[in-house]
Amino acid sequence: MSKVKKKVKFIKIDLDKCNGCRACEVACSAFHANPKYSSNNPARSRIRLIRDPLRDVYLPVYAGEHARAECMGRDKYVIDGKEYSECDFCRASCPSRDVFKEPDSGLPLKCDMCEDDPPQEKPLCVQWCLNDALTYEEREEEVEEEVKLGEMEIGLESMVDKYGFQKVIDTVARMAKKD
Ligand code: SF4
Ligand code: SF4
Repeated sequence: MSKVKKKVKFIKIDLDKCNGCRACEVACSAFHANPKYSSNNPARSRIRLIRDPLRDVYLPVYAGEHARAECMGRDKYVIDGKEYSECDFCRASCPSRDVFKEPDSGLPLKCDMCEDDPPQEKPLCVQWCLNDALTYEEREEEVEEEVKLGEMEIGLESMVDKYGFQKVIDTVARMAKKD
């Protein structure tokens, strides 16, 4: 597979600087409101704060890929004497919890790095984090060229998702016999 140059975007999170103000959640939800900035609701934000002031835990987490099933087991981490569940760090919109789901439709939310036209200089959560807990970086990296799926592959992929690989194979084999 050939390599191509790609601009990769990063947001660095410095937990020591986060004071749990939740400005990032407000900014993200306002930016993604329709029309833009017409409302704000942290439940619609693509960044959520795991917050436990009694234990001095403030952990901003970005929404990532959707997971159809919850994990079978969950690890615990102790960092600087504070205990975290594996779920605290997880970026998935998953059936085990309410975060990263659009509150009206239940559809999964995912951080899009504030894609905009014209582009934003920095993502909105970074712009509004006045404590500099979030910092934005761009780097050019060599990555494998993405293989664009054809129409047939996309269709087959969704059939496999819905019915399972073996059932799709059996059906194709049965259809081939009829020809
Ligand atoms: S980068 Fe943009 S979309 Fe992602 S969490 Fe921050 S404000 Fe929301
Ligand atoms: S805006 Fe910054 S300091 Fe405030 S909760 Fe978000 S990451 Fe933490």
